Amino acid sequence: MALILPDHVDSHRLAASRGRLVGSIQADRFKRISGLYRIGQTTIELDFALDDLQQSQIMGRLQSTVEAQCQRCLAPVEVTIDCEVMHVVGEEYTAVDEQAAGHGQLFDLLAFIEDELMLAVPMIPMHPPDICRPPGDPALVGRGALNPFDVLATLRQNAL
Ligand SMILES: [Zn+2]
Repeated sequence: MALILPDHVDSHRLAASRGRLVGSIQADRFKRISGLYRIGQTTIELDFALDDLQQSQIMGRLQSTVEAQCQRCLAPVEVTIDCEVMHVVGEEYTAVDEQAAGHGQLFDLLAFIEDELMLAVPMIPMHPPDICRPPGDPALVGRGALNPFDVLATLRQNAL
């Protein structure tokens, strides 16, 4: 079973020792991504190193599956995310370590991963071309396969 990664890590210490994090983040820990997307379990591989300016640098890969609503047929579609990430640690993901008074500035790993996932999901999620048709498409209505009221009902269910 994959290691469950903590929300916050000491990025400078990891970088100084050229550390590597491999593990996963449970879907229910992502709080900001919502609405159109449902994130599944996410697998993460990150390598930490110091760059020439002694800044902590993170390089790695994220893999996840995201459930979204196809913007063509309005049915659920599963999107696979597999992306490379590269980040130089600055101020934007600073988390305060409450346990280590005085010393602690940590890197907000969870917020970073969530942002990277949000960048990686397609703006307009859709099934591959020719797999589906828009509701009300003449080819469907002609066969009576789908009527607009069923589509409305589906939309209402999804909105609840
Ligand atoms: Zn579709």
